[in-house]
Amino acid sequence: MKIDLHSHTTQSDGALTPQELVMRAQQMQVDVLAITDHDTIAGIAQAKEYAKQYAPKLSVLSGVEISTRWHGFEIHVLGLNVDEQDATFLARLGEQQQKREDRSLTIIDKLQKAGIDIELSEVKARAKGVVSRGHFAQVLVSKNICSHPQQAFTQFLGKDKKAYATPKWIDLATAVQWIKEAKGQAVLAHPYHYDMTTKWLRRLLTDFKAAGGEAMEVQHSNLAKPKHDMMVSLALEYGLLASAGSDFHAPSRWTELGKRLQLPDTISPIWHDWQHLNENIRES
Ligand code: AMP
Ligand code: MN
Ligand code: MN
Ligand code: MN
Repeated sequence: MKIDLHSHTTQSDGALTPQELVMRAQQMQVDVLAITDHDTIAGIAQAKEYAKQYAPKLSVLSGVEISTRWHGFEIHVLGLNVDEQDATFLARLGEQQQKREDRSLTIIDKLQKAGIDIELSEVKARAKGVVSRGHFAQVLVSKNICSHPQQAFTQFLGKDKKAYATPKWIDLATAVQWIKEAKGQAVLAHPYHYDMTTKWLRRLLTDFKAAGGEAMEVQHSNLAKPKHDMMVSLALEYGLLASAGSDFHAPSRWTELGKRLQLPDTISPIWHDWQHLNENIRES
């Protein structure tokens, strides 16, 4: 079984439409794919509908990646199997989307003050769903102001850089609560990517677990073995289940759907009690 529980579409900062993502997942022989756009679930229904018709073997799960702020860090929490029909949840995500709109104005203002010729309309033209810093990075690259999206972050968009706008995201515990109230499971996204000491990471895991978080990502296509091992042992220590996802945004040399996401037998995966999935595993 190839299970990938973290991916993006054009509804946030992914390069592929929900339909294209489904097609690619099928090509890559992915069995289970969770679509987890930033602060939106707008691509899910389309993807599910399309998969039903054109990729019947692929199971598409509803998901979301919620932006939070915790002790000054930007922490992402995945909500898996959230109820797409939950009106309260949709309204709550709407609040986050509005914060993205407000932040965009501040980022544009800061970029212009830094002497860059850029308009919000250029960024919006690239955002088919919610607007993300990834879109700002694309515009900066297209204008030859930056040579690579990564550089746009190190120079302008990253934390405390010239055009960084402190976001007003909800806090970690609130995101977990929203996900649980929408009948989903909360997964701490890419704990290995946060620029923090192990001491802070331990604090984060303590708070996440106390808030009702159920799992943490411990595997990624390019994660070094020692880091992966450390994440597995932390998950075991904090009583969290394990999850794995490619965080796919666009086809590239480094990322691919379903690539190198196996979990060790020593830890329970988040899907250990997903009935439907386990029936498929037994059959295969
Ligand atoms: P946002 O959610 O709008 O704050 O944007 C965060 C997104 O920007 C992440 O999900 C990544 O897709 C992208 N991103 C963050 N840091 C970097 C980086 N250093 N280089 C390239 N992309 C990045
Ligand atoms: Mn992203
Ligand atoms: Mn993320
Ligand atoms: Mn992501």
